[in-house]
Amino acid sequence: MSAPTDLGRPPEIPPLAIAQATALMETGRLHRYSEEGGDGGPVAALERAFAQLTGRRYAVALNSCGSAMFLALKAAGVRPGEKVLLNAFSLGPVPGALQHVGAIPVLVEITEDLVIDFDDLRAKARASGARVLLLSHMRGHLCDLDALEELCRNEGISLIEDCAHTLGASWAGRQAGNFGLAGCFSFQSGKHVNTGEGGILTTDDDDVAAQAILHAGSYRLYRQNGTCPPEEVMAKWADRCGNYSLRMSALVAALALPQLSLLPERVADWNRCHDRIAQRLQAARGFVLPQRPQAEAYAQSSLQFRLPARDAAAMEAFIAVARARGVWVKWFGSTLPEGYSSNPAQWPGAQAAEVPRACAIQATLCDIRLPLELSAQDCDLIADALIQALEATDDKKVHRAAT
Ligand SMILES: *Cc1c(COP(=O)(O)O)cnc(C)c1O
Repeated sequence: MSAPTDLGRPPEIPPLAIAQATALMETGRLHRYSEEGGDGGPVAALERAFAQLTGRRYAVALNSCGSAMFLALKAAGVRPGEKVLLNAFSLGPVPGALQHVGAIPVLVEITEDLVIDFDDLRAKARASGARVLLLSHMRGHLCDLDALEELCRNEGISLIEDCAHTLGASWAGRQAGNFGLAGCFSFQSGKHVNTGEGGILTTDDDDVAAQAILHAGSYRLYRQNGTCPPEEVMAKWADRCGNYSLRMSALVAALALPQLSLLPERVADWNRCHDRIAQRLQAARGFVLPQRPQAEAYAQSSLQFRLPARDAAAMEAFIAVARARGVWVKWFGSTLPEGYSSNPAQWPGAQAAEVPRACAIQATLCDIRLPLELSAQDCDLIADALIQALEATDDKKVHRAAT
């Protein structure tokens, strides 16, 4: 029996959001700023709510998470030609943000639990002289963020967090996005709040917030932002920051705002499905799942597993059978990525040879998305289909020498 459902189905837009977006369209006020003053409308309201939700002083609403990472790197003072550290398990928009500021990526290894390798981070920071780390909490996996914070402090590294998959996640009671200079969030349809496109930068730093607001393009109407640094800080940066027009539309904010209060419900639902399928796979032969430390409270809208000991042909055979059984599996080791770009060999300016272990891990790493509201039976059908796909392609298994 094949698994029944479209795993790529995004979270639905709640009726209240549709009603508010429709009401806004009737006014025509879709731009966040208004020359005749005003209270900033839904974008300012979203910024205030998001800053409060994530426990930061400032939230700057933007058109994407990619823009948030780009502005965070700019505000951290990254200049063209400068080297920036980047974990090698990430997604195309992250190395893309580095390319946008003209920085050169220095790839850092990951562990089998899919988080950044601290020893390699320390070594690469020292060897390269890079002073900024753009860390992707890729697919929702958090490293020991307390230890990372200390490592960054000791090594003089500024941390920028890519929280595209960790809205609602925390480490030892502290939310992701609170451990560095800035946190970058996405409202793209595949993320925890769905507005099609959208992003937010969060920070406690006056200068970072001021530069992000000004670069996003505020036409000197920044007093209408939901969270804005004091006037003297804005005045310091006003003439130095060009307008890159990366603002969030009021329509996007109207769609996002009512979804914030749904987050706890959504996270519980995703984790319920994730844990049910993960348990089944863990009990089956052949699947290896990342270990999740106690201190990590995840918000897992996708599920990752490795099939160690399989070569590329055996991976391809598994993917084909799983898809035929109705489960859309992604394979991070594919040389031809379909709809995603997580392979460092395909990132501009990156040297995949710097991270042989990350490449070897991703060569047998797979992923499925988890839509909301899967029934327990749906979860079991998905797990069964994966287990059967592995068994059905077992003869293709090629044992490789242990490395
Ligand atoms: C989606 C995603 C981004 C980028 O988000 P956009 O809003 O599309 O720019 C960044 N990092 C990761 C890990 C993502 O999954």
